[in-house]
Amino acid sequence: MTILEAVSVVKSFTTPSGTVSALDGFDLQVQEGEFLAILGPSGCGKSTFLHMAGGFEAVTAGEIRVDGKRVTAPGRDRGMMFQGYSLFPWATVADNIGWPMRVAGVDTATRAERVRELLVMVGLPTGAGLYPGQLSGGMRQRVALARMLALEPRIMLMDEPFGALDAQNRELLQEELGHIWTRHRRTVLFVTHDIDEAVALATRIVVFTTRPGRIKLDLAVDRGEMDF
Ligand code: ADP
Repeated sequence: MTILEAVSVVKSFTTPSGTVSALDGFDLQVQEGEFLAILGPSGCGKSTFLHMAGGFEAVTAGEIRVDGKRVTAPGRDRGMMFQGYSLFPWATVADNIGWPMRVAGVDTATRAERVRELLVMVGLPTGAGLYPGQLSGGMRQRVALARMLALEPRIMLMDEPFGALDAQNRELLQEELGHIWTRHRRTVLFVTHDIDEAVALATRIVVFTTRPGRIKLDLAVDRGEMDF
């Protein structure tokens, strides 16, 4: 079943030096439960596509649909891990993780309980009161992962989530994500530059080209025994 669909999506940015085209008639269909790795050269529109799928950025033309409904804003069916360390630096770990629940109107007690559960899950049981500045890169991405999972989204949008980590932390987080995907089979859209990572985690790999929003390769990956 198609869960997410991009139909003739156009995205252009107006800049002082003219119009920049990020996607120009982009089409994609993602099936429920797929783990989609998105690769491609820098500047080919990968981040822009994820932001629009998350509802954080508007399309210029065309549409992105989730369950057949046009995406116009963020929603609890989609969780997002932004590129880089995207935690709010002024907020505690607990408040960072609790943020999507707060926006969704989840009451304080339920939120606190869920934050505790998520902190245990990502291996930071005593981290609630810390600030992002006090955390290592690996710990910050654990918190960002917990924030993405807070509302148990059906679609996880992940923009190079582990790209800045050292090899050991990257492996640990890949493993954690692999476990979560295997258990829950939620749909994942995962931007990466790391072909090994894509092959290890994904069920499907798409490669964008520099022609704005064209797909050059679309491969099914045989997960075979590669089970976490
Ligand atoms: P990728 O994630 O594949 O590296 P992006 O989606 O970040 O690519 O960018 C696609 C194109 O859109 C690039 O040419 C980039 O410079 C441009 N772009 C992205 N965001 C903006 C913005 N906020 N303002 C102007 N141009 C942008």
